[in-house]
Amino acid sequence: MCGIVAYIGKKNAFPVVLKGLKRLEYRGYDSAGVALLSKGNLLVYKKAGKVSNLEDYANQFDISGHIGIGHTRWATHGLPTDINAHPHVSMDGTIALIHNGIIENYDSLRKELINQGYVFKSETDTEVLVHLIDNISKKEKVWFGEALRIALHYVIGAYAIVAISKDYPNRLVAARKSSPLVVGIGTEGDFYLASDASPIVEYTKQVVYLNDEEIAVIDLENDGLKLYNIGDQQKTPYIQQLELELEALEKGGYEHFMLKEIYEQPRSILDCFRGRLNTNEGWVSLRGIREYEDKMIQANRLVIVACGTSWHAGLVGEYLIEDLARINVEVEYASEFRYRNPIIDERDVVIAISQSGETADTLAALELAKSKGATILGICNVVGSSISRITDAGSYTHAGPEIGVASTKAFTAQVTILALMALTLAQKKGTITQSALHTMLAELESIPNKVKRVLESNGHIERIAAQYKDVSNALYLGRGNSFPVALEGALKLKEISYIHAEGYPAAEMKHGPIALIDENMPVFVIATQGNSYEKVVSNIQEVKARKGKIIAIVTEGDIHVREIADEVIEIPETNECLVPLLATIPLQLLSYHIAVMRQCNVDQPRNLAKSVTVE
Ligand code: GLU
Repeated sequence: MCGIVAYIGKKNAFPVVLKGLKRLEYRGYDSAGVALLSKGNLLVYKKAGKVSNLEDYANQFDISGHIGIGHTRWATHGLPTDINAHPHVSMDGTIALIHNGIIENYDSLRKELINQGYVFKSETDTEVLVHLIDNISKKEKVWFGEALRIALHYVIGAYAIVAISKDYPNRLVAARKSSPLVVGIGTEGDFYLASDASPIVEYTKQVVYLNDEEIAVIDLENDGLKLYNIGDQQKTPYIQQLELELEALEKGGYEHFMLKEIYEQPRSILDCFRGRLNTNEGWVSLRGIREYEDKMIQANRLVIVACGTSWHAGLVGEYLIEDLARINVEVEYASEFRYRNPIIDERDVVIAISQSGETADTLAALELAKSKGATILGICNVVGSSISRITDAGSYTHAGPEIGVASTKAFTAQVTILALMALTLAQKKGTITQSALHTMLAELESIPNKVKRVLESNGHIERIAAQYKDVSNALYLGRGNSFPVALEGALKLKEISYIHAEGYPAAEMKHGPIALIDENMPVFVIATQGNSYEKVVSNIQEVKARKGKIIAIVTEGDIHVREIADEVIEIPETNECLVPLLATIPLQLLSYHIAVMRQCNVDQPRNLAKSVTVE
């Protein structure tokens, strides 16, 4: 979950590493550190808090050196303190190491090393790695890279590791398992390393993604980059061209990445369906899964596995696919699916949804499904990510990099893919008429413009946010495919403003949550025109009868709800299946403004991190 950046070459490493850490700060940001190899010395600086703390601190000392490794931590073992921050250093001050992930058997390794006289400074699981490498290197009389390779045989868990040693001032070694790592091949015989491509793109577009249990050895004096597996067999690096543009990683004039990403949605939804549908000719096609369409239609069931916001997208997908293609769909929390011995076999198709494509629980769920013979498919945003690589097939959402920790444009892109998937399957299975398909495709094509119109209500939404910014609780209600929208609205609010919020199917309110309603409880209701409109209106009446405050999302021109609600936010009319793509937007903006007014760190909310690579 953390960020890793490293540089080895002719430039000064510190500015490169520091800039990279800032780009990666969204992945984890409770502490940060760097190690530099400079004139035979190993310089290590670590600080709790933001990368800027580290920058201010390190700037007081020697920051020279052409090899550097840097880390932003998302603590799993031990508090976010200076000492627990990475890099961790061997007792003799020779080797420095950074790590992303969790070493599951760290306790037994730690005890063994303590028995052999090693003294631990930190509470982290990571520190065992550096002492283990030191131990092996001394016992086996091998250089630290070879010791690292051997050490990995003793380690259980997930890792992306980068290590340097002052005994080898021209070398850098890295390894990965279940945690991403990418090597950038610089233009000046230099190399960059990072946990995702964002710190690399401004220097080079030539990259090599490490595979699981691969070790990269970069030796400036000896052929540059070499790859090995942990059995020490050399492998040929597969060099890929990055398609990422630098502008996508900048705020572009917006105050926060989250706001920028909310405003990018007309574009990201368009990019998501571009080339995948043709309204005039009346077809829709997801090339990535074309070979698996029959399998999906004949499947016993489709099982969607995901976490967090992606899980909410999965719930919308369930409505879409069941409604349009009449295929049985189940949506599971990846973590629960994985640990409850699910009944799954080769007649099932398991679809993982993950923005980063690295979500550890989702990856593990896929591995389990694969081992039981199921077909596994993926819906991811990050090209080349682990999920996209282990799945049989899948579709990218093409939403562009999402930096704000609270997911926005990735959600609407995931829903767009699921709508395309539902229509593709419906078309193939014949559960939709050609004219209904034509209407749906035209409607889907109109969504980006309709999202733009919703964004025009930003000022109105900001005024509503000002009224409710001080509440302690909030309820979100929706029916049908607006129920997942309610869940997503509540999640956005809690994630970034720390207000307790719950999403419920509107009809469930009377089975419990209604007890919470009084004049202090705002209730956000998705009450757009459609099958259950009248029922939702009744639910609104029930809230009003108990003095609750209603903020309703309604279809443009609605007069009925306007009369009873405290506030209404209008969205353009659309096909009921596609309402989530529009109704989500005002809820994103509401959460954003409330969080800003409460002076919360919108892009980096407390305790959270982007790309959850620990289980
Ligand atoms: N498990 C390690 C720690 O707690 C690494 C966490 C991370 O990925 O940032 O220090």
